[in-house]
Amino acid sequence: MIIGVLGDIHGGISALRRALNWLLGYDLEALLCVGDFVPLASDLDVLQELYVLEEVMELLNDVGVPVMYVWGNRDLELFERVVSLEDLSSRRECLKVIDRIIKMRNLIEVPRDTRIRLGDTIYVTRNPMLLDSRTIYLTHYDNYLRSCLLHVEGHVHYAQIAKGYINAGYIHRNLPKGAYADGMVIAADIAGSNNVRVLVKPLGAVKPLICAKHISEGVFFVPSNWRLCPVCYDFAKAKVSRVALHI
Ligand SMILES: [Zn+2]
Ligand SMILES: [Zn+2]
Repeated sequence: MIIGVLGDIHGGISALRRALNWLLGYDLEALLCVGDFVPLASDLDVLQELYVLEEVMELLNDVGVPVMYVWGNRDLELFERVVSLEDLSSRRECLKVIDRIIKMRNLIEVPRDTRIRLGDTIYVTRNPMLLDSRTIYLTHYDNYLRSCLLHVEGHVHYAQIAKGYINAGYIHRNLPKGAYADGMVIAADIAGSNNVRVLVKPLGAVKPLICAKHISEGVFFVPSNWRLCPVCYDFAKAKVSRVALHI
């Protein structure tokens, strides 16, 4: 069973189109999206950002398979800006866009109170209490838990593949100098908890990196100008090995 895994999209419409084109070469069961759909560091106003969000969600919805997603911190910040808009008519306009997004047929926000079915044998949840060897744990960014089939998340803007763990990386991100803005997209073939094959397709200048000092962290996919692994830069970024050491 093959699922597409999309990291932080951040309004990158053209990179998203390329990512989806590549994924459409596979017989997909579903798409998993880790959130942060909205643009980063844009000079757009709230409504314009929502229009970009709507365009992103429309592209995902049009793939025609279930799109299971969680919101990211940037998405939630945008919704907070909507709620705190002083002007009632612009607030209403914004809420209409959100309403259209929520009603899109193939989009399923992954719930906290239950698990939802993905195919015949697998479940997805964002509740850490509901995990088992048949359940995918989908978060924007949270503590790595081994008690699941697979923990899938994003937020850090590099990809990481380790046993039982996928950080989806990013489809697009803003950078001050504009270089390497596009990242990577992932297809995961899940045959069982000990049998997950992961394919990473670069969308921009990214490279695989295995760090000799942090072998248990698996393979990173980072912007090609990075010289060290993310954990060398910041030990707080360790996921898998922190669990192994019980830190
Ligand atoms: Zn984030
Ligand atoms: Zn992000």
